[in-house]
Amino acid sequence: MTKNSATPIQTLLSQEPVNQTHTIRGWIRSVRNSKKFSFLVVNDGSCQGSVQVIADATLVNYEAIAAMRIGFCVEIEGLLVVSGGRQGGVELQAGKVDILGEAPEDYPLQKKATSLEFLREIAHLRPRTNTFGAIFRVRNRLNYATHQFFVDRGFVQLHSPIVTGADAEGAGEMFQVTTLDLKNPPKTDKGEVDFTRDYFGHSSNLTVSGQLNAEAYALALGKVYTFGPTFRAENSNTPRHLAEFWMVEPEVAFADLEDIAQLATDYLKYLIQSALDHCREDLLFLQSLYKDDLLETLEHVASSDFKKISYTEAIEILQKADKKFEFAPDWGKDLQTEHERYLTETHFQLPVIVTDYPKDIKAFYMKQNPDKKTVGAMDILVPGVGEIMGGSQREESLEKLTVRMEEMGMNLEELSWYLDLRKYGSCTHAGFGLGFERAVMYVTGMANIRDVIAFPRTPNNCSF
Ligand code: ATP
Ligand code: MN
Repeated sequence: MTKNSATPIQTLLSQEPVNQTHTIRGWIRSVRNSKKFSFLVVNDGSCQGSVQVIADATLVNYEAIAAMRIGFCVEIEGLLVVSGGRQGGVELQAGKVDILGEAPEDYPLQKKATSLEFLREIAHLRPRTNTFGAIFRVRNRLNYATHQFFVDRGFVQLHSPIVTGADAEGAGEMFQVTTLDLKNPPKTDKGEVDFTRDYFGHSSNLTVSGQLNAEAYALALGKVYTFGPTFRAENSNTPRHLAEFWMVEPEVAFADLEDIAQLATDYLKYLIQSALDHCREDLLFLQSLYKDDLLETLEHVASSDFKKISYTEAIEILQKADKKFEFAPDWGKDLQTEHERYLTETHFQLPVIVTDYPKDIKAFYMKQNPDKKTVGAMDILVPGVGEIMGGSQREESLEKLTVRMEEMGMNLEELSWYLDLRKYGSCTHAGFGLGFERAVMYVTGMANIRDVIAFPRTPNNCSF
C-alpha cells in the first residue's frame, strides 16, 4: 500500500474482519458521544452505505474528535472488526483520527430532512447527500452502459462539434456564440449587425443536435454515435427541459425506421438492466424515498415488449379516451405531454413507440412516406417522463429533400454539405436522439430533470 492509499468504504463494507488495518477518507454524517467513546458515521461517496467508526476516549486528540459535527472531512486509520451493533456487519476501531477539514455549525446539510427544492439552491453541496450520491452513481453507470452498448455493437463514437453554423431542426431556440462587442457591434449598410466580422465570418450557435454531422460519418463508417452536450434556448420551464443537456445520438447506415426502433428498444432495456445489475442498493434507496414501485417497474419494462403504434392510431386512442384533456387531440397537431403520458401511463402502462407523424410537425430531414402526409419518425414515450427519445429514418433522395427544404423556406446554401450526402453515394439510413437526463430521470424515478444533472441550466438560472 502506498502512503496515499485509502480503502473505499464500498470495499471496506464487503471485507471479512480478520485483523486488518484500513485507512478511510470521507465526510462525517453524524457524531454520537458516550462517556468512553465517540461513534462517527463516515461516508466517502463510493457507495450508499456509511461505516461506523468507534473512537476511544484514549485517543490523543479525543477532545477534538468528540467535538466534530456533520460535514467534517476526516482520515481515519483503524482495525476492522465485527460490528457490536444490532445491524451486524463491520465497523472500524479507530487508532488515529485526522481532521482534514472542519465544518462550522452553519453547514447547510443538517441531519433533518431537506427538500429537493432547497438542495437545488446548494447544488455544490447536495452531492454529499444520500439522494444525490445515489443519483450520480446511477448516472455514471448509465453513461458507462451507453458506451458499452454501442461499442459492443460495432459503433464508432463521434465527437461532433459544439459550435455550429447551422440549426439541425431548421428552427430557432439556439444560443448565439459571438465575439462581437455587443455594446458597439459592426453594422452593414442596411444598419444590421455585420456578422461577416464575427469570429467565424458568419453567425454561429451552440449545437441543438449532433445528428447532421453524425449522418456524414454514418455514411462512411456505417454505425456511429455521438454523446455530448446539447443546448436549447427554448423557454420551457418544465420538469423535463434543460437549457444544457446531454444527448446520445446513434446514426446507422442501411437502417430503416424499424431497425432504429429496435435499436432504441434494445438500448433502453440495456440501460435499465445495467442499473438493476450494478446499482441495486442505490435504486432501493431512491425507491424508499421517491417512487414506491421503482424496481418493479424497471424489471417489468426490461422484460416486456414495447407497444408500437402509429401517430394516427395514437390520435384515435386519445379521441376515444374517457379523460378530458386540456388540449383536444387532433390529427396534424403535435402530441402534448398530457397525451403522451395518457398513452404510456394509463392506456398501455408500458413504453410506447409512436411512428409516422404528420410531416408538418416534424423536421425537414425525415423520410417522406408514400402517403405524402406523414414521415418515418418515431418517438419513444415512457411512464413518468413522456418523450425519452425521438428518431427517424432520414430522407435519402436528393430531389425529395431539396423540394422539402425549399417548401420550408430553408437556406440550401448553408446546408449544401448536408445535401452532398444525398448527391454522393446516398443510402437508406436512420437514427435517434436520447435525452440522457430523461433516461436518468426514468431509471432513478426522479420527477424533476434539475435533480439528475450536476449543475442545471434553466431559464433565469445559470449559477454554479
Ligand atoms: P420535447 O418535445 O420533450 O421538447 P423534442 O421533440 O424537442 O422534445 P428532440 O428534438 O426530438 O426533442 O430531441 C431528442 C431528445 O432530446 C428528446 O426525445 C428528449 O429526450 C431530449 N430533449 C429535448 N429537449 C430537451 C431539453 N430541453 N432538455 C432535456 N432533454 C431534452
Ligand atoms: Mn423540445
